[in-house]
Amino acid sequence: MLKITNEVMKRLKKISSPIKRARYVHKEVNKKLSALFQDPVVQKHISCRKGCSACCHTQVSVSDDEAALLAKLVQNGLKIDLKKLKDQSRVSKSASLWYSLPFERRACVFLDENKECSVYNDRPAVCRTNHVIGDPQNCSTQDGEVRSVQLLNTFEADMAIMAGFGSCKENGALPNMLLDLLSKSSDDKLNETLSPQRSLSEVFKEM
Ligand code: SF4
Repeated sequence: MLKITNEVMKRLKKISSPIKRARYVHKEVNKKLSALFQDPVVQKHISCRKGCSACCHTQVSVSDDEAALLAKLVQNGLKIDLKKLKDQSRVSKSASLWYSLPFERRACVFLDENKECSVYNDRPAVCRTNHVIGDPQNCSTQDGEVRSVQLLNTFEADMAIMAGFGSCKENGALPNMLLDLLSKSSDDKLNETLSPQRSLSEVFKEM
């Protein structure tokens, strides 16, 4: 299995663009998952359904490549709740603080009003491998409690994810990594997109 990690890392060394690196890891993760999902037993036992967004209220880790990809989507005009991102970034390094946030404030900034991922094709690698077996009720963290859930063994895809994390300079919680990149942006278009009333620099002054 280490072979998968080594092969992906070798390939990543040859790609200079962070966005292309992130997409390459995602492609490898998808490949491993689609092979797994050919199995009828796997198909039968997965409880995840469209519109269930329980795992989008938990902590998500991204590589700096993935953060760059997400920041690019925002720069290109995707609207997100910057205030929520800021609140989440204050607590995302501590599980207890994270789960003390009200449920709605814990929703990922990319979760849309239909409870669907607005960056589905570019969602982080770890979002791709979250597949629960058994009672999906246990995934809910609405009451602030985290219950044990049985996840599908996605070992090969996890090895590709490890290669992505192993090849990047930095990784961390999605809110922090994304906010960090956006705060460095001096893009007027981004300022306008994120907060029509306040410039991005004004918003970040509050932090
Ligand atoms: S990026 Fe998409 S799939 Fe991942 S936590 Fe956010 S909304 Fe959910």
